[in-house]
Amino acid sequence: MDGKKLAQEIRTQLKDEVAQNGLVPRLAVILVGDDPASQVYVRNKQRAAEKIGIKTVDHHLPATVGQEALLDLIYQYNEDPNIHGILVQLPLPDSIDEAKITHAISPQKDVDGFHPINLGHLFMNKPYSLPCTPRGIMELLAHYKINPSGKDVVIVGRSNIVGRPMAALMLNADATVTVTHSRTRNLAQKTRQADILIVATGQAQMLDASYIKEGAVVVDVGVNRLEDGSLVGDVDFESMLGKAAYLTPVPGGVGPMTIAMLMKQTVEFAQRG
Ligand code: NDP
Repeated sequence: MDGKKLAQEIRTQLKDEVAQNGLVPRLAVILVGDDPASQVYVRNKQRAAEKIGIKTVDHHLPATVGQEALLDLIYQYNEDPNIHGILVQLPLPDSIDEAKITHAISPQKDVDGFHPINLGHLFMNKPYSLPCTPRGIMELLAHYKINPSGKDVVIVGRSNIVGRPMAALMLNADATVTVTHSRTRNLAQKTRQADILIVATGQAQMLDASYIKEGAVVVDVGVNRLEDGSLVGDVDFESMLGKAAYLTPVPGGVGPMTIAMLMKQTVEFAQRG
């Protein structure tokens, strides 16, 4: 499944939508500290936004910024009618309480979909804003006409940003969902039941072909950098080729879809006004 190509198509559609409707979506992007990976992620998001016609208001704050100063900035944007979305790049420095920051963002401007109110809406099947990675996976599956209804879906990983919201989205889509994690016993026995397997563990190439049944759909969320500098996922792509019916590559699978969904949600927020 080619996430890069689909993400490009979505971004082109969004660009047309913004131009045709005369929208000027504005996204506040807040980066704290000098984590190199976060800087790359933020740059990619800013570039994607610019190409679509989303204006970003960028803040790169030092790691020493106080929690109160960061909260004040968020409150200011919560009140600003010209700002449609607020993104605080995670992780934050240890001196800042990440939950406090995430909860301070107005749910109406929560483009990342991490606010507990938005997660609650998702669990009640009345979503407002969705976490971008699971939403991107649903769009990717829909594009390839893979309907989760009635299917056995197994998710490996239970993080707040991937595994848990993914489980809720799949349940909302009428799948039968199993969520597994590091304490799960007989993991392979469970993953081999999956019609659709979604892996988000952060463990490089952890699952090989012995973990799937013939014809399974495999979505690899993992992004792991090996010592030689190459990027690999949480599944062994080569081993699964030929056994899986559909498989996402890393890079070029889930990653670009995540950014496309962030852009889509920003445009949706601007449309809601
Ligand atoms: P977390 O570290 O927050 O969660 C990892 C999950 O995997 C945990 O629930 C953990 O279980 C589980 N796990 C770890 N080891 C095993 C194991 N041996 N067997 C079974 N379960 C295991 O990671 P994230 O969800 O934030 O991210 C996962 C991966 O996805 C990372 O590689 C990350 O970089 C990538 N990612 C990619 C994105 C994209 O856009 N492409 C977006 C977000 C993340 P337990 O809860 O018991 O500890």
